Amino acid sequence: MESSSNLLERKKSVSDLSAEVEETSTATTGLDSSGHSSAGAGTTATTTATQHGSDETEEDIFEQVQMILRKRRGWGPDDSLSNDLHLLEYDDELGEEDDAGCPLPSTPEDTQLIEAEMTEVLKAGVLSDEIDLGALAHNAAEQAEEFVRKVWEASWKVCHYKNLPKWLQDNDFLHRGHRPPLPSFRACFKSIFRIHTETGNIWTHLLGFIAFLGVAVYFITRPSVEIQTQEKIVFGAFFIGAIVCLGFSFTFHTLSCHSVEMGRLFSKLDYCGIALLIMGSFVPWLYYGFYCHYQPKVIYLSVVCVLGVLSIIVSLWDKFSEPALRPLRAGVFMSFGLSGVIPAIHYSIMEGWFSQMSRASLGWLILMGLLYIIGALLYALRVPERWFPGKFDIWGQSHQIFHILVIAAAFVHYHGISEMAMYRVMYSECTVPIEPITF
Ligand SMILES: [Zn+2]
Repeated sequence: MESSSNLLERKKSVSDLSAEVEETSTATTGLDSSGHSSAGAGTTATTTATQHGSDETEEDIFEQVQMILRKRRGWGPDDSLSNDLHLLEYDDELGEEDDAGCPLPSTPEDTQLIEAEMTEVLKAGVLSDEIDLGALAHNAAEQAEEFVRKVWEASWKVCHYKNLPKWLQDNDFLHRGHRPPLPSFRACFKSIFRIHTETGNIWTHLLGFIAFLGVAVYFITRPSVEIQTQEKIVFGAFFIGAIVCLGFSFTFHTLSCHSVEMGRLFSKLDYCGIALLIMGSFVPWLYYGFYCHYQPKVIYLSVVCVLGVLSIIVSLWDKFSEPALRPLRAGVFMSFGLSGVIPAIHYSIMEGWFSQMSRASLGWLILMGLLYIIGALLYALRVPERWFPGKFDIWGQSHQIFHILVIAAAFVHYHGISEMAMYRVMYSECTVPIEPITF
């Protein structure tokens, strides 16, 4: 049973909602122009005449929506509207936690369900009131639609993997805590502050993005007596790669549940970002590694550009983001990164394996390579969640570890190229004049 104060609150909330909707509804033509075309001049009269009944009607609409939502297939009384729905107060029966289902319309079929439900609400609203037909039905439909939309946006609850639509089913070793589809950018960005399977992925690369942006701004704004413009340009390539990669990754993980189209678009950008990070990482390493050797430097930089463009082309392939191609994705980027072994060996032979310069640059390079390789392997094998399905749903899943290793590797690389640059600038060993490099 519901207390009268509860009902009053509900009525108030619904009234607030309808007041908010009022503005937008005047600009629109309504739901069904043929059925409610008369709701123009006659509206004012009928609305005034039925004003006394409007509160009851709003309450009816609320009850109808609630009843229909309760009766929904796969949404029993235990599958509730979210607890963090602040717009309306729900009784305990509707407020229980059940992490096995998506409580609100979330799949393509659900979109049709909403429409069917709205029609039912509309019919019920109209039939229950003999006085009003046109205007009331019109208002009722808009209010109910707005109501459901707001409830939907504000109160989504995490889902079990099996309840996700096919296009969101990516890692079946993560059982609970998935976001349902949220076809609104606002809802996706608000989900950053909720706990679900993507929270860790979003925040790791959001913080990494901010950190690299900070380092880049600090580096680029140093006076030129401290860091020369040429150094800034060379390091700039790496900074751009890292910032774009982390930024796209953060955006992808935030918007992946928006819709099939958005998920696909941003996953492509995410992969392009990885290719750009690898390309950007090569630039300063090759520049300082082959500081005095113009020809191999240009050749290697050209090869890196070609491989980078090829990786981007592969990334833009529609099927590339499919779950089954996870090992291929890891393979493509790992091969691209590992292609650096060739110039590294070349460099070591040229410079001497144990020279001071080699030790400075190769040590960090190897550490960076190891971090990337471990990350890529965990990503491809989906370890540790493969070994303990359902135990790493929210924290500690392979993708989060991979994200953290990417940030660690990027910082290790930054440190490595900084040492190389310092060494080159301080003890330039070129016996022949440095040939000009144009970027
Ligand atoms: Zn990611």
